[in-house]
Amino acid sequence: MYWDQPTETMPREKLAALQLARLKETLARAARAPFYRDRGIADYSVTSLSDLAKLPVTTKQDLRDAYPYGMVSIPLEKVVRLHSSSGTTGTPTVVYHSTHDIDAWTELVARCMFMAGVRNTDIFQNMTGYGLFTGGFGFLYGAERLGCLNIPTGPGNTKRQLKFMKDFKTSVIHAIPSYALYLADTLETMGIDPRKEFPDLRIIFLGAEPHSEETRKKIEDFFGVSAFNSYGLSEMNGPGVAFECPNRAGMHIWEDAFLIEIVDPVSLQPVAPGELGELVITTLNREAMPIIRYRTKDLTAAIVERCSCGRTHTRIKRITGRSDDMLILKGVNIFPVQIEQVLIGIAGVRRNYQILLETRGNNDHMIVRVEIDPNLFTDELKALENLRKRIAHELRDEILITPEVELCKPGSIPVAEGKAVRVIDKRVL
Ligand code: ADP
Ligand code: ZN
Repeated sequence: MYWDQPTETMPREKLAALQLARLKETLARAARAPFYRDRGIADYSVTSLSDLAKLPVTTKQDLRDAYPYGMVSIPLEKVVRLHSSSGTTGTPTVVYHSTHDIDAWTELVARCMFMAGVRNTDIFQNMTGYGLFTGGFGFLYGAERLGCLNIPTGPGNTKRQLKFMKDFKTSVIHAIPSYALYLADTLETMGIDPRKEFPDLRIIFLGAEPHSEETRKKIEDFFGVSAFNSYGLSEMNGPGVAFECPNRAGMHIWEDAFLIEIVDPVSLQPVAPGELGELVITTLNREAMPIIRYRTKDLTAAIVERCSCGRTHTRIKRITGRSDDMLILKGVNIFPVQIEQVLIGIAGVRRNYQILLETRGNNDHMIVRVEIDPNLFTDELKALENLRKRIAHELRDEILITPEVELCKPGSIPVAEGKAVRVIDKRVL
């Protein structure tokens, strides 16, 4: 079942021809934006998709330098909206939309949600922020186009969240993974079994943050739902860039709207098919703010095999994290998601955690703070000590260094309103 069968199952050759035509349009449009005009984008000619590699890349810093209006390529009276990134990694960047762009975005999110099985009979509760953050509006548009009943609760206010889920018989939710985990912890503390409390709940969309396959399974088991991975970034509208189909083996990235490359982050040369690299995206269907070869910093790999669902658009693997998120400790590269993957599998460990990096003397240390079940604190000290050692040991097996582990009471690690802040780096460089 497809939302837009001709596009979703378009033969690769036809898709490539569409991409080339749209790339040419995109370049012509981009040439009208001050930023790209200054870059001399009009001087580049593109006659095949492989010419893409000759074009200059665009970085987050470029978007910041072009602030406030340098990236706009249509008259301002035709721009109807701006959004900005969450600012997880510094000054926010701004993205502009025309009515065409909002409509195209809506279609993409509708396509994703329909692919996962959402229908007009669903009650959809969206637990992500409305405002500059794109997760709220993006999913609202998609779900409205499908004809769902929308409940735009936004993030936080967990008690009301749970009440609405029960009273309105919510069947689909969208949350960032750290909030879904927080919700699970809260229900556990309240002694509520979500499978009984919310029998209509069947789908959870998890997006905006890296999360492991183990975390997905934990959320699915706990809530009794299917969880789908949703990838997007404000620079590319927000949600609706890549999404899992019912096979849930990688995310289809919509190549009618986005032209993708996966490159070595240092040399910017394409990696071999299936190898891990940085995702670089060119918009193909954006009017107000075309972006050429945007370096997302997100690390992923293309899945070379076609998907059995019939969609021809390439799948990408779960995002490991941004290249900026990678911690280098004692010469070892570590992604926070590797730590989460271990913690989620240990009984008694709750779902909120934090990674602290400090320098003591000449050495850097990693301290992993985890919340554990309150009843464990009544156990003998020896039992606690064993748990601590076990966590340190299992982490070592995954990340190759032994961190210090600190066991904390539930609720003692702060919960962010938006995306979780997992790493606090106090190292002296
Ligand atoms: P910010 O860059 O300030 O966090 P955004 O809200 O635009 O602003 O976030 C987009 C980023 O969030 C992506 O570039 C990626 O790093 C991360 N992200 C989004 N969805 C996922 C996902 N499903 N898995 C992993 N990371 C994701
Ligand atoms: Zn598929």
